[in-house]
Amino acid sequence: MNDNIKEVWNKRPLIISGPCSAETEEQVLETARRLAATGKVNMLRAGIWKPRTKPGLFEGIGTKGLPWLLKAKQETGLPTTVEVATAKHVQDALQFDVDVLWIGARTTVNPFSVQEVADALKGVDIPVLIKNPINPDLELWSGAIERLQKAGLKDIGMIHRGFSSYGNTQFRNAPMWHLPIEMKRRFPEMLLVCDPSHICGNRTMLQDVSQKSIDLDFGGLMIESHIDPDNAWSDAKQQITPERLSEMLGDLVWREENISTQEFITALATLREQINHIDDELLTLIGQRMKIADKIGQYKRDNNVTILQTNRWNEILDRAVAKGEALGLSKEFIIRYFDAVHLESISHQNKIMYDQK
Ligand code: PEP
Ligand code: MN
Repeated sequence: MNDNIKEVWNKRPLIISGPCSAETEEQVLETARRLAATGKVNMLRAGIWKPRTKPGLFEGIGTKGLPWLLKAKQETGLPTTVEVATAKHVQDALQFDVDVLWIGARTTVNPFSVQEVADALKGVDIPVLIKNPINPDLELWSGAIERLQKAGLKDIGMIHRGFSSYGNTQFRNAPMWHLPIEMKRRFPEMLLVCDPSHICGNRTMLQDVSQKSIDLDFGGLMIESHIDPDNAWSDAKQQITPERLSEMLGDLVWREENISTQEFITALATLREQINHIDDELLTLIGQRMKIADKIGQYKRDNNVTILQTNRWNEILDRAVAKGEALGLSKEFIIRYFDAVHLESISHQNKIMYDQK
């Protein structure tokens, strides 16, 4: 690694930006110029080979785009980084002097591919960033790091781009902050960069997610930027102009945290994630409880029994108050909680009695 790249690689915060995909020579050059003009960006990113969820979408310009990146570097002085997923990608990227490689989320999940990239990099002195796998599996993420370390690579960093989940959530990829925090615990010296673009999937939350990562002591940001975001050939919804990026970076608060404040924020994020998990489980359990109530409702309907059976309810409440108090929960809370659950249960049973007859 030459001294110039070494200096950039060691910058904190390290700011990487550029389009999701290289599209045309002019687009790459213009983006690079405008990013360089902000004076706030340290490295130019661009996807050359794009792993797309569905066929028929733009799958990257391919090797033909690599000279554009080289030209952009020569003109602006910004080192470049691209995603590689195969040995051929690695060879092509090296041939065109790409400075830093990154492994994408869809590649990190596949040990065959990671090993292929690692083998292609044996004896090569180049920094590599590894995105988290799309699924929340830290062993896969650590495993990819280990494969590259075993291939002799010394400069490895991690990119947190969130984890995919089923159904609609506010994020394109849920940040699950406790997972990158755990990776920081496992690899304390390793660069950890946040990619708010792929976490958010939109422009509106970028600022908040970036700030959150800074507060959690991440070492840098990778944010997608485009000269005409609405007309980008991939990830149009989440890209911002270089000028907007500059504004956003200017508004971020780079706290001079002392260690204890960072530890506090990290601990808080971990505890909050634990609470989220428990709340999810509680809701799932309450949902299951209602399904059982529905079944009871069916029996009552078929046997012509009243929905409310006071004795049974008093029995439930007495048991819960005794158990709850032993767990440090107040009697008032238990009664309010069970009243709410009971009302929901009765309304489910009512539905069964009258709707489905
Ligand atoms: C990208 O950086 O454009 C990309 C494809 O990201 P990810 O691998 O995180 O989905
Ligand atoms: Mn993208």
